[in-house]
Amino acid sequence: MKEPVLTPWIGPDGQIMRRLELHLTYTCPERCVFCSEEHRMARFKRFPVTWGRAATVVRQHAERGGNGVHFTGGEPTIHPRFRDILRLSKKLGMRTSIGTIGTMLSRPGFAETVLPFLDEALFSLHGPDAATHDALARREGSFERVTEAIRRCVSLKPGFGAFVNTVLTRDNAEKLPQTIALADALGAKLIVVSNTTPEGAGLDAYEDLAVPLSVLADVLPRSVPAAQTAVLRFFGVPMCLLGAHRTLSNDLHWDPRVTVEWTAQPGSVKFDGLYSWAPDRKRVHVSQCDRCTLQGVCMGVFDEYARKWPTTELTPIQG
Ligand code: SF4
Repeated sequence: MKEPVLTPWIGPDGQIMRRLELHLTYTCPERCVFCSEEHRMARFKRFPVTWGRAATVVRQHAERGGNGVHFTGGEPTIHPRFRDILRLSKKLGMRTSIGTIGTMLSRPGFAETVLPFLDEALFSLHGPDAATHDALARREGSFERVTEAIRRCVSLKPGFGAFVNTVLTRDNAEKLPQTIALADALGAKLIVVSNTTPEGAGLDAYEDLAVPLSVLADVLPRSVPAAQTAVLRFFGVPMCLLGAHRTLSNDLHWDPRVTVEWTAQPGSVKFDGLYSWAPDRKRVHVSQCDRCTLQGVCMGVFDEYARKWPTTELTPIQG
């Protein structure tokens, strides 16, 4: 019998969605205080993503016309067949990227083995010094390892896409200019500044973690000059708090994507693809947004923030 032909994933405007996000693991050696995946990891870590399953998803993505795959987790580099999955993806013509804490890539030998098959990595760096970063990652030595990993990848592979993700909490927000300066000096080409998302551990501790809008309005615009060469993006932040830098909002630069991961079904779980059309997860518009000309492109504030605190610091954009 003839195999059915797979059709492309189609995006909200009829475009073919070429980028896939694939969760390879549901475990991680770190326990970041804001981890949005914590609940999903607890739920699904007893269902390992096998080599066969990962390979099938990547092959099907290629058949659907996909040309890029981002591996995430948990921590994707600890998957026992990580290198084989990267190698298969490259063989199928994909651009490969990962979201990582950097531990494995900091180790002599590991980076040399996988870098031939890896184009980009989004490294987690949550402060300009070990005390700040390690406290948020809840793992001693994490800062040393991730900064070493960035240096190692940049030096070993010319043109490598070293990117940095830094999650903002009350404990590190004031240090954002120094964190950006460090990432920039390490050779990051892109720095994503992510506001704590009220999801997973980030929701459990939201009262302690959420950065007041007044602090964001102060620190975000003045952090921008710290990126001398890297491109900056702000994720999960109301655009009006970025002042003159609002075009750096990730709300304007989002790629629709399909995420393949374990999903809960009645009485079972399924490894399945979920569409993400826009960066609007957990974001809402509030009364100030009614008077704002950016309402069509800005996704607003996090729902949990609006439930807990006033949003009077939002400054609707007129004209
Ligand atoms: S007022 Fe609302 S819609 Fe306008 S930029 Fe601020 S958060 Fe976004």
